[in-house]
Amino acid sequence: MKFLMFGAPMAGKGTLANMLAEDYHLPTISMGDILRESIESGSEEGKIAKGYMDKGVMVPTALVAKMIKNRLAMDDVQEGFILDGFPRSPDQLKVFIDDHVTDIDVVVNLEVPYEVLLSRVVGRRTCKDCGYIYNTSWNMGYKKCPKCGGEWGIRSDDNEETYKTRYEVYLKETLPILDYFKSQGKVLSVTGDKDPRQSYENMINEFKKSEIPGLKRFLEQR
Ligand SMILES: [Zn+2]
Repeated sequence: MKFLMFGAPMAGKGTLANMLAEDYHLPTISMGDILRESIESGSEEGKIAKGYMDKGVMVPTALVAKMIKNRLAMDDVQEGFILDGFPRSPDQLKVFIDDHVTDIDVVVNLEVPYEVLLSRVVGRRTCKDCGYIYNTSWNMGYKKCPKCGGEWGIRSDDNEETYKTRYEVYLKETLPILDYFKSQGKVLSVTGDKDPRQSYENMINEFKKSEIPGLKRFLEQR
């Protein structure tokens, strides 16, 4: 089964993708991770991508598409995967369609109100020692990192102003491409306004109710 996670920044796409991946033994493909790994490895593509990111502009579609195609050609993703972060603009969607990058069975559209997204942004804490991410909006009461006992840090770009800009880009650039997948009958909308565990349960319940081909059988394979 080939999943595409869709939703605003901070909607929980990566978190739910990881939970689904663990329960159903599927690999995740995150465009953000691909970019990060390619930069860390010092590859030629990574160097070029970093040049754009350092300037704060979008990495060109052709380069992003090449990276994602390389990843999709690997053995471990041939039976299925959970994709997050591509396509996310009309340009990328055009390449996705024209180049037959991959087929997708289900698009999980995570719906979260703006106020909830914002509360997650300002509540995000990252462990200064191990990088574990926690959110005060989950109400778990962690004063320190539950993994290693480290202190919490706040990322400088986790503020309302920066988030508002990212959200506006999402509304203008990314949200419109959902129409393409809707026209194919592949979109499953899921309410993702609660903590990860509850949002995950909502998602699985929507899967059970869905008429999208193959989804019920997929759930039985667990
Ligand atoms: Zn830690």
